[in-house]
Order: sequence, then C-alpha cells, then structure tokens
Amino acid sequence: MTRTIALIGHPVAHSLSPRFQQAALDALGIDARYEAWDVPAPDLPIAIERLRSGSVIGANVTVPHKVAMLGRVDHHDALAERVGAVNTVVRRDGQLHATNTDVAGVLRALADAGATVRGARVVLLGAGGAARAVVVALRDGGAAHLTVANRTLERARGLVPLGGDAIAVEVAPLDPADAALRRAMREASIVIQSTSLGLPHTATAGLSPVPRALFARGQVAFDLVYGREPTPFLRYAEAAGAQPVDGLAMLVHQGAASFRIWTGAEAPLDVMFGAARGALSA
Ligand code: NAP
Repeated sequence: MTRTIALIGHPVAHSLSPRFQQAALDALGIDARYEAWDVPAPDLPIAIERLRSGSVIGANVTVPHKVAMLGRVDHHDALAERVGAVNTVVRRDGQLHATNTDVAGVLRALADAGATVRGARVVLLGAGGAARAVVVALRDGGAAHLTVANRTLERARGLVPLGGDAIAVEVAPLDPADAALRRAMREASIVIQSTSLGLPHTATAGLSPVPRALFARGQVAFDLVYGREPTPFLRYAEAAGAQPVDGLAMLVHQGAASFRIWTGAEAPLDVMFGAARGALSA
C-alpha cells in the first residue's frame, strides 16, 4: 500500500518540499507519496486526525502551524520544546511524535558554506518564527556573541532567553543608522537574514533590511529567503566582498533530516538538491 507523508501549511502551493521529497522517495524506491495539504488555521484539528489515519507516515509542518502543532501532538522532544515550534511529525505505534529539523538545517547550511559557528560573532536580522530556530542553532553550534536586530524591538528581546548562558545576546533596532547595529555588522563573521524582505513575488521582493555599506569583506551572509535570482540582501553582500549563501541549503537539509526520521534511510542529498534547484529554475 502506498503510504503518505504530508506537508501541512497555508499556503503550500509554492513549496519546493513536495518536489525534492518525492524525488528522494522515488530514488530509494520507497512506496510513499509526499502530499501538500493546504490547511487554514481553523482546520488544523481535522488535519491532525488525518495524520492519525492508516496510511500516514508523518508530516512536515510549516507556516502558520509550527507553534500550534507543538501543543497538539502526543509527544515532542527537547529540541522542539527549546525552539517552541515543530516542523516534523512522525507516527509511531499510533502516536504522533514531533521534533524540529530547522535547527539542523541552519547548521548544515552554514557548514556547507564553510562558516565557522564556534566562537563566532553573529548578526541575526529578523526575530520571527524562523529566527527562533536560528538562535537555538547558534547556541548549539557554540557561537560566542549574537546581535538580534528587528523592526519590532520587543520581538527581538523575546529571543534572548533562547541563547541561554552560553552565548551573549544583545538586541538592536533594524535601522541601518543605528550605531549598535553598524558596529555589530562590522565585527560579525556571519550575518543571517531571517526577515521576509526579498521574498520573490511579494511587495518587498526588491528590499534588503541592510544596505551594501554595512557588510564587511569576507563575512558569510546567509539569507533564509531563496528564489530563482539572488535576493537584494545577497546581491549587496556579494558586492561588498561577503560570501552569499541562500536559503535553499537550509530548506533541503531540514527536509533531509525529516526524511531520515520518517524512513530510517539516509537521505539522497544530491537527488534532493537537484530536484529543488530544478523546480526553482523551472
Ligand atoms: P515571520 O515569523 O512572519 O517573521 C517575519 C520577520 O520579518 C519578522 O522579523 C518581521 O519583523 C520581519 N519583517 C516583515 N516585514 C518587514 C518589513 N517590511 N521591514 C522589516 N522587517 C520586516 O516569518 P518566518 O517564519 O520567521 O520566516 C521569515 C522568512 O524566512 C520567510 O521569508 C521564509 O520564507 C524564510 N524561511 C526560510 C526557511 C528555509 O528553509 N530556507 C525556513 C523558514 C523560513 P517584525 O517582528 O517587526 O514584524
């Protein structure tokens, strides 16, 4: 019997996950279909009941359900608890178990780019849901210092406890004229862009949260956003001599970690990257 893995989100039509997850399942000859389920918030309980039905292996969870799902599964692990959100659910013995593979996705994307997280000074632009996984990843990776800059300062302050004692976290307004942000950008070896600015086909697709002048030569500039063309953030970073890294690597690596959890098999990363890049450029 063909089994099902779901992507639960709203909207989901634009997602690359069905493309590269199905390619991976097919490459390994696993009889399963990865299906996008478009689930508006009020319908989440219905989707969860579907997850409990006969042929489902598990699910990815995306915006806007990552936090709500945490409180609705039967079990979640310590990592999901620390992030405060889940993106992966697996069904075992009729029970739903959840974790968060975005953290691994961040660390693997940075490692692929040759970035050294341990001991690094990092700037994180944005303080939304994705930023929570970034802070936990930086803490687990051993970063020394983090500046979180966000339009809404209160939301940046909300991320400080996620750093724990191991990493010094300060907050700054997301204002290119702000002295603390300018200094942090100058001193950082890694800058991570997690606002929704630059997202293709949106009103802010042409915008970067920081101008070219704030980047420093040699630093890694990692944008969680990805698209067919480099985002404005990545174009400014490259023009300033920084190393641009787009969000596709994070997307594929979080998916690969989920794939291992669902199937117990090693994820075919080449197949997944090939399918994701192919879908992006189609
Ligand atoms: P979110 O929770 O909605 O947070 C949005 C963030 O963007 C907040 O920090 C928000 O600031 C900021 N923002 C929005 N509009 C802004 C504007 N006009 N000016 C300045 N800041 C603005 O979203 P999320 O879930 O964190 O996702 C953020 C981005 O990361 C999305 O584009 C998403 O596609 C991407 N992402 C990529 C991956 C991947 O695997 N590569 C994974 C997850 C997310 P305020 O707090 O002030 O509103």
